[in-house]
Amino acid sequence: MSVRVRFAPSPTGFLHIGSLRTALYNYLFAKHHGGSCILRIEDTDRTRFVEGAIEEQVSSLAWAGVTFDEGPHTGGNHGPYTQSERFDLYREYGMQLVQNGTAYYAFDTADELGAMRTRQQNAGIAPKYDRSAMRNQFTLGELETARLLAENASHVIRLKVPLQQDIRFNDLIRGEVVVNGREIDDQILLKSDGFPTYHLANVVDDHLMEITHVIRAEEWLPSTPKHIILYQAFGWEPPKFAHVPLLLNPDRSKMSKRHGDVMVKDFATKGFFPEALVNFVALCGWNPGTDQEFFSMQDLIDSFSLERVNKAGAVFDYQKLNWMNGEYLKKRNVHDLARELHPVLAGKGYQYIDEEFVANVIELVRERVAFLADVADFADYLFSDNLSSLTPEAQEVLAKLPTLNTALETFKHGLGTSLDSPESFKGLAQAAADAACVKQGALMKPLRLVLTHREVGADLFSTIKLIGIDRCVQRIESFIAG
Ligand code: GLU
Repeated sequence: MSVRVRFAPSPTGFLHIGSLRTALYNYLFAKHHGGSCILRIEDTDRTRFVEGAIEEQVSSLAWAGVTFDEGPHTGGNHGPYTQSERFDLYREYGMQLVQNGTAYYAFDTADELGAMRTRQQNAGIAPKYDRSAMRNQFTLGELETARLLAENASHVIRLKVPLQQDIRFNDLIRGEVVVNGREIDDQILLKSDGFPTYHLANVVDDHLMEITHVIRAEEWLPSTPKHIILYQAFGWEPPKFAHVPLLLNPDRSKMSKRHGDVMVKDFATKGFFPEALVNFVALCGWNPGTDQEFFSMQDLIDSFSLERVNKAGAVFDYQKLNWMNGEYLKKRNVHDLARELHPVLAGKGYQYIDEEFVANVIELVRERVAFLADVADFADYLFSDNLSSLTPEAQEVLAKLPTLNTALETFKHGLGTSLDSPESFKGLAQAAADAACVKQGALMKPLRLVLTHREVGADLFSTIKLIGIDRCVQRIESFIAG
């Protein structure tokens, strides 16, 4: 049987970094086993619907390279893939359980349920539907139930949890999980408006879509015993389960906005490479069992296994992510990077932005920036002749060298004599320093300031080579002219 997994987001917001990891693990597992990764939209809770959320989630996933073999946008043989288009189905399946005695009608009002909760609270017991004290098909009897139904009295359908039974399943990450029936609530399956709850829709769909492995976040672990009971009630074989550990803040609390970005689109806007984010997120909670650190998507597909996903929560280390992004910036093809940077440079109105030139600039400065887009500001003096104004500190540095103009004249003159390599510029700087009676070291910062208006940058002589002789001569002349 071929592997079928699903990522089942609800349209309640934009794609969270934890959801990216869940989707990614599903994708990697499916591809590793030559199976299918399915997208299913779980939009049964209309009260939490956020317009545009699904489109955003799907495009964030696509940006990261996680795509689906079946789903609302791709099609497939197990559709529709959006739960709101399957409502009739859930009702039929819910009724099937009422008929076989594994689910039941309950007629309690909101007030009655509220009173029950208060009683339980006062008695210090965990909140749970009290089957024997409330108004349902067991306490009311067959006739009264039939009468209420005929009257169209408002009701829900609840799961009849087998109270005597231990519910067991083997989680592929956490091992055996056992929960006694007494600890499980008689979950509502169909609400009074006839809509299914997450639990019913989720189980019916996983079965009908022939899902073999449910890989989802740890927060769903408490729901799984209910799902196992549902599979038993339908007489269906349950899929295998794997609950992925939480992502944590550095203080080991559940990852939240307070500590930094949590939405995938925010990482994209900040300028993280999708490859770096995917590489990083894959390693949050999974380890390859080797000391390999850099993984392409194909490497991840080749090495991924659920056995190597940790049980414990994984700390999301923002610093490590920054570092990893920088490593990708150093490694990636400069021409690809130049093309990606082009819109940023064009947006700033820079003049010198042809691909070959930009690629050379990136090559020169990429060791010194964390993000590709930083290159635009870091090396603005290469892309444009409109130099940023000199800071007061810079002016002070320049004023401290009384023979600066002599040095600059010598340097400018030398530039006119067909010098071309960084080494030759270095020799020229020595000659200029000699003419100005200073050490070469003392001339370097002022020279850089005159040519770039910046105190720091990449190797000065390679920078001069990229700025080019003519533009350097102009800069020196306009500095001397004041
Ligand atoms: N709709 C649930 C969510 O938003 C899916 C849980 C599951 O994968 O079963 O996370």
